[in-house]
Amino acid sequence: MITSDNQKLLKKIPQTDKLIQSAYKQDFFQNIPKNLVVSAIRKVTEDIRTAIINSEQKTKNAEHSQKNEKNNKITEKDIAQDSIIAKVKKLVIKKMSPNLKRVINGAGVVIHTNLGRSPLAQEAILSMVNIADRYSNLEFDLAKGKRGSRYQAVEELICEITGAEASMVVNNNAGAVLLTIETAASQKEVIVSRGELVEIGGMFRIPDIIEKSGGILKGVGTTNRTSIKDYEQAINENTALLLKVHKSNYDIIGFTKSASLKEVVELGKKYNICVMEDLGSGTFIDFSEFTMKYEPTVTDSVKAGADIITFSGDKLLGGPQAGIIIGKKDIIKSIRKNPLTRALRIDKLTLAALEGTLRLYRDKTEAVKKIPTLAMLTAPFELIRKKAEKLKRTVNSEKNSKVTVKLITLASKAGGGSLCSEELPSSCAGIKINGLTAGQIEKAMRGNNPPIIGRIENETFLIDFRTVAEDEITIVKEAVLKITKDLE
Ligand SMILES: *Cc1c(COP(=O)(O)O)cnc(C)c1O
Repeated sequence: MITSDNQKLLKKIPQTDKLIQSAYKQDFFQNIPKNLVVSAIRKVTEDIRTAIINSEQKTKNAEHSQKNEKNNKITEKDIAQDSIIAKVKKLVIKKMSPNLKRVINGAGVVIHTNLGRSPLAQEAILSMVNIADRYSNLEFDLAKGKRGSRYQAVEELICEITGAEASMVVNNNAGAVLLTIETAASQKEVIVSRGELVEIGGMFRIPDIIEKSGGILKGVGTTNRTSIKDYEQAINENTALLLKVHKSNYDIIGFTKSASLKEVVELGKKYNICVMEDLGSGTFIDFSEFTMKYEPTVTDSVKAGADIITFSGDKLLGGPQAGIIIGKKDIIKSIRKNPLTRALRIDKLTLAALEGTLRLYRDKTEAVKKIPTLAMLTAPFELIRKKAEKLKRTVNSEKNSKVTVKLITLASKAGGGSLCSEELPSSCAGIKINGLTAGQIEKAMRGNNPPIIGRIENETFLIDFRTVAEDEITIVKEAVLKITKDLE
């Protein structure tokens, strides 16, 4: 039973027609499509109705209700026409703005999978723009005047940069691994070290991928130690693939041993078995030139003689989401013939962005400057510090007694399963606002337009400036000041 008070309230909720008329009296609604306005009105009035009915049940079950559950009692004020229209307006604004939007990454993770991994270089964007609203020779051979290959845009470039015989590209590296194993080892055994049976995240687990691609997993060695003998002893007439996997997001230290790619390649040659390496991130740049640890490059794997190598386009390469497959001509040829290739096909805009990115690698010094992921990874500490200082200075100049900005030196991470044990010294701004907890600041910054993503350490909200662009400093400053204003 609903109390008579609430029944009266329910009856008093204005009719949809009335609300529509009232909305269109306002300038704001003039160019808003009617079905959007109507659906927003329905949603708002429906929510009010539900809130009234729920408040009824809540009072009844008062003894069971949780303490933190606020009893938002609906009053006459809430169902007044103006108040409903104000809510409708808010909802319409939300529905009219894009769901996928830019954010400011102050989280201290350069290749942040949740935040879209690698921002693209201007050259990559230009390549996309040039073909986006036009036709292109995507699969058309202009010299012969007939059907051509989708991969011609990048095939030669990839071989030129990596030294590989042949190449192709698919939607992402997960797809590249699946497709390659399916082609090379369906119904056959795949030998992998137990130390490399990794989960990359997002439910990408090497054992599952091998199973999904029809291969039979044969784990060898132990978690911390695998020798080339372990691989050799596992070989039988049903072995089709020796697989090396980059450990990506974890490291084994202490009493360890693993077979090098070179050793595995030699073994593969001896028994005439294909050798594959899933490099995960894959880099064309030798990071040891930038006071970082040495990370084997794609070219190193090609030189070591792997038959087939796969890696991502949007991790350390700094390009769009893609899976790059390189290796021996005959294997690439059979991969191209695999019907799965069609399901994992790379999109033309991605292909354009990939070509634009790859072209930059002809000059490695330029690549490091122009590819944002590389520029951020190799940014000198002083440069990052300057950006953090600028935030502190501009916030302080506002003489807002509620805010304090403190510079803290901490480490950023490469992320995306890349350079996992690398600590990149970075400068963070620790932001404190009187009357707000770190969690409340984090939430408010996340709610900013554009959202600003930071992290919390030791009860302090932090913005890491390695991944904050120069022109984003003002946005961060204004967001901080707005939050303090909203407190008043
Ligand atoms: C990241 C990663 C993948 C998956 O690559 P995506 O491009 O994200 O699909 C596969 N294998 C390894 C070792 C990785 O690190």
